[in-house]
Amino acid sequence: MTRAGFVVLAGRPNVGKSTLVNAVVGEKIAIVSEKPQTTRRAIRGVHHRRLDGVDYELVLVDLPGVQRPRDALTERMARRVTEELEGSDAALLMVSAEQGVGPGDRFIARTLADARLPVAVAVNKSDRARGGALAPVLSEAAELVADAEVFPISARTGAGLAELLAHLGSLMPEGPFSYPDGEPSDQPLPVLLGELVREAVIRRTFQEVPHAVEVVIEEVERPREDLARVRALVWVESESQKGILVGAHGRMVKAIGTAARPELERVLGSRVHLDLSVRVRRDWRTDDGLLDRLGM
Ligand code: GDP
Ligand code: MG
Repeated sequence: MTRAGFVVLAGRPNVGKSTLVNAVVGEKIAIVSEKPQTTRRAIRGVHHRRLDGVDYELVLVDLPGVQRPRDALTERMARRVTEELEGSDAALLMVSAEQGVGPGDRFIARTLADARLPVAVAVNKSDRARGGALAPVLSEAAELVADAEVFPISARTGAGLAELLAHLGSLMPEGPFSYPDGEPSDQPLPVLLGELVREAVIRRTFQEVPHAVEVVIEEVERPREDLARVRALVWVESESQKGILVGAHGRMVKAIGTAARPELERVLGSRVHLDLSVRVRRDWRTDDGLLDRLGM
């Protein structure tokens, strides 16, 4: 028998959803940042396991943060969230042991209750809750969703993940697998490479700049087996943002390239020559044609 299904990850920005996806698939497929609202596309992380004679496939869906639609980009992101909830078999509500349960978590819990899916709750960052700090968060978390089981976990250290995954597996319906074994994600390679460059940008910029940036991989060339040449365009919305990203004497764009290169080398399994150029396109977030091409 096989059980298979989709589990939507829900939770406030920064609770560790993308970190959990990476931990579960054992590979970095979702970018992680301490700045909120960095996930733009739904990312699916695939987990296969065999337990008590049953083969399970869990597909964890890391959704973009939910925010009030402001422009074509956020509107598309909000639409995706609704569609993904409809197409899922369970939801995992994540809260942070470090921050405790707040009104934002209660709001998300109500949204999930309306969607009528089985829900489990994970209290993440348990490594950050010292002494007796974890127990009160666990009991607040238990009140978020009626009848949901609560799991203390740390996506960073891996603590509690086995128990959580076994429970999620038991919530999945009987059915065939959707993904071949050993494939961690359905994310196209250029998208993953672009996201890794975007992560390097986000880590080095502040205020509105991280949100104004999109990265498009124009070309991946393999002149030799041990070398890949990657050409990336970094889109920003204004000349001043471009100035920030290029930096004095090109120092910033160089630092971004230096930070992203080892990540690209890990994915491509070869040395990488990374060619970054920064371009201004004032309206990329409202341009439907461009958003289509970016797959958002
Ligand atoms: P998301 O916005 O929910 O996707 O959150 P991220 O996965 O991007 O994580 C936000 C921040 O929390 C990052 O700096 C992570 O490194 C950190 N983080 C995630 N999980 C844990 C955890 O279990 N323990 C600790 N200490 N930090 C974590
Ligand atoms: Mg995220």
